[in-house]
Amino acid sequence: MGKMDAVVPTKLTLDSRLKFRCHKDIKCFTRCCSNIDIMLTPYDVLRLRDRLEMTSEEFLTEHTYVKIDEKTSHPLLLLQMNDDEERRCPFVSEDGCKVYTDRPGNCRYYPVGQGTIRKEGKNGPELDEFYFIIDEPHCYGFDEKKTWTIASWREDQEVDRYDEINKEWKALQLRKNLPGKELDEKKQMQFFMASYDLDKFRRFIFESNFLHIFDIDDKTVEKLKTDDVALIKFGVKYINYVMMLEESLKLKKDASKYKKK
Ligand code: SF4
Ligand code: SF4
Repeated sequence: MGKMDAVVPTKLTLDSRLKFRCHKDIKCFTRCCSNIDIMLTPYDVLRLRDRLEMTSEEFLTEHTYVKIDEKTSHPLLLLQMNDDEERRCPFVSEDGCKVYTDRPGNCRYYPVGQGTIRKEGKNGPELDEFYFIIDEPHCYGFDEKKTWTIASWREDQEVDRYDEINKEWKALQLRKNLPGKELDEKKQMQFFMASYDLDKFRRFIFESNFLHIFDIDDKTVEKLKTDDVALIKFGVKYINYVMMLEESLKLKKDASKYKKK
């Protein structure tokens, strides 16, 4: 994984080419899995929670920490490295990544980095995605002969599913709060729950007055009972509502009866 000072600041597209190969016999094998900051998305948490057979609360407590983004006041989630000099990832072993098939999206992309810019398009705001190379001296993968396009690298690393599921959530990260409306602690906790703590968010929907307050159609309610991906996407709507960015959820006519005074 990369540190930001190793980023080669050239914007690449899906057709840009890359010479790279990572394999078990390379002399730097697993060197990139130490002393790194890996930002986790809601889908990363879901995959790792299931892989480790933990509840989301257990996973968050044992393997993550939170940082508040200075610009947006959003709570960001990072993977907790081991508390030793090397700061090794808790999932790295002599044989490589122990959670390889469920590794986070950022680990999949590496040594490619991905960025998104929000810009004004003809029909309103549009998201413009771009890529860049994280070229670090300890990584010998760039000396190998195998070539890729960014598109074929993405396909090989199976990041499409991650990007598709996290798309609206990532777009949310680019939205500014309304002026003077930084998230207070309560809103940060709601943001955190709906983004990362899926088990708690599901309990919140089904074991509080939530369904008395918000007008959610029966089909969606049924889906939210068991479908974790649907829950992630619904979480974005809830966060948008909490941040007062969009009227993404409708209140029931008699909602005020159920709201806490
Ligand atoms: S080639 Fe690069 S990505 Fe692969 S193990 Fe070495 S440092 Fe990590
Ligand atoms: S999750 Fe796996 S690939 Fe990512 S840093 Fe940890 S060991 Fe390396």
